[in-house]
Amino acid sequence: MTQSSKLFAPAIWSGKIFDGDWKDARGAIQEVLDKASGDKIAESAFATKDDVSDVARVAVEAQKEWCNLPGPQRGDILRKFSELCRVHDGEISDWLVRETGSVRAKADWEVHTTAREVLEASTMPSFPQGQLLATEVPGRQSIARRLPVGVVGIITPWNSPFLLAARAFGPALAMGNAVVIKPDPQTPIIGGVLPALLLEEAGLPKGLFQVVPGGAETGEAIISDPAIDMISFTGSTATGRIVGEQAGHHIKRVSLELGGNNAYIVLDDADLEAATSAGSFGSFFHQGQICLTAGRHLVHEVIAEEYIQRLAERTQRLKIGDPFLDNEVLIGPIINQKQADRVEGIVQRSIDMGATLNAGGMRDGLYYPPTVLSDVTVDMPVFTDEIFGPVAPVITFKTDEEAVQLANQTHYGLSAAIQSPDIGRAMAIADQLHSGIIHINEQTVLHEVYGPIGGVGASGNGFNYGTVSNADKFTELQWITSRAEAQPYPF
Ligand code: NAD
Repeated sequence: MTQSSKLFAPAIWSGKIFDGDWKDARGAIQEVLDKASGDKIAESAFATKDDVSDVARVAVEAQKEWCNLPGPQRGDILRKFSELCRVHDGEISDWLVRETGSVRAKADWEVHTTAREVLEASTMPSFPQGQLLATEVPGRQSIARRLPVGVVGIITPWNSPFLLAARAFGPALAMGNAVVIKPDPQTPIIGGVLPALLLEEAGLPKGLFQVVPGGAETGEAIISDPAIDMISFTGSTATGRIVGEQAGHHIKRVSLELGGNNAYIVLDDADLEAATSAGSFGSFFHQGQICLTAGRHLVHEVIAEEYIQRLAERTQRLKIGDPFLDNEVLIGPIINQKQADRVEGIVQRSIDMGATLNAGGMRDGLYYPPTVLSDVTVDMPVFTDEIFGPVAPVITFKTDEEAVQLANQTHYGLSAAIQSPDIGRAMAIADQLHSGIIHINEQTVLHEVYGPIGGVGASGNGFNYGTVSNADKFTELQWITSRAEAQPYPF
């Protein structure tokens, strides 16, 4: 591990929550583990409802001054954060590898993308913050101006905790909001502590970025606290339903970025070398623990045999092991025992129902090998469920219509990809897919700061992240009219 720098020295933050200062929480202290070795690497606090209430009130006060700071100056602080990510990239990457079980390439990518995400967000307050509107009344000036929502509660999962935090707090802070963040209890340091330390070092005034680690109870406290105006939630569809219901009860704006069961469609004219390479990456990157993972490979029947054989061969090239000890490792551990059991169960039940195992399938503790399954049918759990493990189930189709029907045979609608040199044919399929994101001649796991990332159906409420949509997400539009003099009305 890179030597702990002064900036990240744990003596200051270990077992604490953050409200601008590091403080004891009222809840219990919890161990944070290296996911591959199981070694204890840190301690984290659990914030209670009262802790959330305290930090939220501090955030309300801090936000009043922050939103009055000229926008470009808010941007300067975020630009500094972005620069600090690059200065400390090795150390941040180490935390990602250890706390999430990320392979090195994924961790390095996440640090880079986070820096980019916040850099782009830093420019948001430099653009026009409203519009001059049309009016039917001479002499009336009518404008719509953007105002911050207030205090944004951010709840994140463990799989990409640094990036998923930043894609919300970057634009939220840029647009003049304060933030209360609850990272997943498995990844509280990279998901909350490190962003807080970096933002503090970048010069963010106290009280604008609050960290309250904890589980479901802490999350529920954020949703119900009257001082928190908006909820930005990223996580599973099951939890998202609860979060959506509770936020609705409190009449709060809620952005839900949820699970996926993404179709990777390979047409009969596809380049099989490229398609199996992209398919392997799409299903096995970060052990398949990405919302955008290629969860179902839909392959034309005339090329299916060769596709399956090549995909299975590719799994042999993927080195499995502890990614902290070896930068060449491409398959690290599954996040925890329960999830490893779940992946194994989904695969085993599908094999019991008639699926054929072409590669992988033999688990070693938390290490689940890249697995290829064929003879998959639509009633098997590998087809119906979001697996969140390194599994590529292959199902065949005869016609483009059937491919569309199979792809849409899910209540999710996050990402899809189509492989074919015939762009017109691929676009005709894309036109019929129920999916928030579609890539042609790529795979399903693409994340660019500039694209709107979000799903439809059970994948979320379509309130996408991305530079084109972030201003709408983190501001309210206020309509203001004015006239030079008061005018008489008809009665
Ligand atoms: P999860 O839903 O179990 O947990 C997510 C967060 O919600 C955690 O911080 C957790 O502590 C918190 N939480 C749990 N119960 C809560 C409650 N009742 N109220 C408030 N908060 C609560 O998800 P997970 O297993 O950690 O993450 C994996 C899931 O996230 C997958 O389904 C994946 O597809 C999805 N995901 C989606 C995106 C996206 O952008 N669409 C990105 C990453 C992950």
